[in-house]
Amino acid sequence: MSLAEKLSQERRARLAAERLLELKQAELSAANQKLGRHAIALTRQIDETQAEVETVRGENEKVKSDLTVAHAKIEVAERRLWHSIQTIQDGFAFFDGDGYLISANKAYLSVFEGLDEVAPGISYDRILDLLTQEGIVDIGEDSAADWQANMRRRWACSNPEPIVIQLWNGHYIRLIDQRGSDGDVVSLALNITSSVRHEAELHAARERAEAANRAKSAFLANMSHEIRTPMNGIVGMTELLTETPLCDEQRLYVNTIRNSGEALLVIINDVLDYSKIEADKLALHPEQFDLERCILEVSMLLQPSVRDKGLTLLVDYDLFLPTLFVGDPGRIRQILTNLVGNAVKFTSDGHVLVRVTGVPNSDAQSCDIHVAIEDSGIGIETDKISHIFGEFNQVEDERNRQFEGTGLGLAITKRLITMMGGTVWVESEPGKGSCFGFRITLPTAEGPQPAPPNLADQLQNVVVVEDLEVNRAILTKQLGRLGSQVTVCESGGAALGAINDTVDLVICDQDLPDMEALELAKTLRGQGWDDLPIVVMSANPAIIHADPTHNLIDGVLQKPIPRSELYARLLDLGVPRAASPEPTRHPEVKKPAGKNQRQMRVLAAEDNRTNQLIFRKMTKDLNIELRFAANGLEAVEAYLDFNPDLIFMDISMPQMDGKQATAEIRRREIGTAKSVPIVALTAHAMAGDDQGILAAGLDHYLTKPLHKKLIHQMIMDHHPEDTAALTDDSPSAD
Ligand code: ADP
Repeated sequence: MSLAEKLSQERRARLAAERLLELKQAELSAANQKLGRHAIALTRQIDETQAEVETVRGENEKVKSDLTVAHAKIEVAERRLWHSIQTIQDGFAFFDGDGYLISANKAYLSVFEGLDEVAPGISYDRILDLLTQEGIVDIGEDSAADWQANMRRRWACSNPEPIVIQLWNGHYIRLIDQRGSDGDVVSLALNITSSVRHEAELHAARERAEAANRAKSAFLANMSHEIRTPMNGIVGMTELLTETPLCDEQRLYVNTIRNSGEALLVIINDVLDYSKIEADKLALHPEQFDLERCILEVSMLLQPSVRDKGLTLLVDYDLFLPTLFVGDPGRIRQILTNLVGNAVKFTSDGHVLVRVTGVPNSDAQSCDIHVAIEDSGIGIETDKISHIFGEFNQVEDERNRQFEGTGLGLAITKRLITMMGGTVWVESEPGKGSCFGFRITLPTAEGPQPAPPNLADQLQNVVVVEDLEVNRAILTKQLGRLGSQVTVCESGGAALGAINDTVDLVICDQDLPDMEALELAKTLRGQGWDDLPIVVMSANPAIIHADPTHNLIDGVLQKPIPRSELYARLLDLGVPRAASPEPTRHPEVKKPAGKNQRQMRVLAAEDNRTNQLIFRKMTKDLNIELRFAANGLEAVEAYLDFNPDLIFMDISMPQMDGKQATAEIRRREIGTAKSVPIVALTAHAMAGDDQGILAAGLDHYLTKPLHKKLIHQMIMDHHPEDTAALTDDSPSAD
């Protein structure tokens, strides 16, 4: 190679090396720049991190100081809490889930004074052991093992019931244990000794007050009983006095005495009943009875006032409801008398309706019976309603003051219904009327219940003429039940238009808006409806019987109409019209007393002289042999040697009362064919003085004051056929 070539080669190599150097220097500078940027970024990051670390450190410091404060606070709170727990009088303890004591206050531990063992760490079981072993707790009749077992069983519950234990020193402790979710138990032992003692004192005070109240009521009951006897004498004597010749003025005085006496007796009977209930001396005497008849009897009893006031008293007895139940008929009658009596008393215009409905219970052995007594009377203001069932509470206003009463009736009624397990209520609108209702459950009596006859064939079409809507509805229901088609008319005029050949019977109210029933009958007969049976409903059948045109009709039904009576009458009408609408009467034969016939023997056991006198006077017109016995013993003796045909037996008599005497007489009759009729004379039978009277073997009872008519009736009913006639014009069977 030439030198030139070598030089150029070297030059090329040097140039290449210089270029490479330049390149490397550029790369180095770029890397340096990058490194510089990195360093700057890194420095920034380090700065930021350092700032963050500073912040966190600051926060940490704060949390630390907060924690210290919180700790201090917790400590204070804990100390205070524990201090409080220590100072409370009641015991307080914690147990862990395994039943070991964690901590307890002084009061808790004080019960175990002297037993160092009772400290944190002791088990609940051991505490129970110590309680019984050391006699700390009064375990009563229980054995220690039983008592502990009971306590353990209770402790094991997730939510133990509070329990009261008694300590040896007579203190009462109520233990309240609360189990937490982790099984720990907080136990509170409250000392309730003072409240238990206070309660016992209150209880004793209440018992004393109740005993005093009972004694007062018993006194009141005895007093009213004692007052009744002379009152009965007064009323009885005045009845006799009215039968003697008196001038008008004297008659007025005598009637006033009698009415006042009877009113006083009503008040005394109310007071007597109420005090009897208060003195806990009143018991119910259930027996089989007919509810419908009971209601009708009460209606009959109130009929005179209903009639005097021109009211209509209606009974709507659910057709599907049985009538025979088991209950205390005397008391049910008393409830009804009060409610229906009030309805009549506080109504001057319109009607009183007794509605009885009921549903048999699922067992079919008893019925829920609802009785509602609805009236169209003066009503009761809303703010007074809540008071009327209280004692001596009467609605005090002008309209009400004109009515007599004790204000005890509803209080007694409510107590009786409550005793029967029932409820009573009232709804009322002043000026419109009231509705008193009560509900009781009564067992249905065994045996057949009355069922209505089927008259669908004989009486297909019946026309009912009645202006009172409720009564139209009742009759439509009752006749419909018998299978009849009923056409209702509100007036006589409407009835005249409704009569046609298909009508089998007309039932018509006596007082129609446009005419009277007899007028309607006269018009119908005049139109040629001679064979169409017409029956009139009336609250006062005597008025119809007294009318000479009464033979135009086929019968009179006394309102309220007993269903059985309605059905019986309709059955009679199934046959062609009778010639006379009068009920058949036995012909009265006048016969002198047979010479050889003995007189009927009547024994009256009555200790009260006045009542004896009244009885003698009341029976003086009867041809009987009367003997008196002054007590039960004498009555039994007289039964043996006088051999009476009928005995009147006063119930409350000295030595041996009427019930005992009757039982003795019945005992002596065993094995003989004899059973002398015995009529109880009770002071106050309606209100249940008849308790056990019929059960004691008595056949009937009459209530005092004695009434001549009823005594005569009893004697006539039991007049033996083979004895002399009772009066000159009465029949005797020889
Ligand atoms: P008494 O009738 O003897 O006053 P009650 O206890 O039977 O006592 O009745 C209390 C009061 O309730 C009555 O005085 C009367 O104000 C009111 N009361 C009761 N029944 C009715 C009724 N059917 N209509 C209006 N007020 C009545």
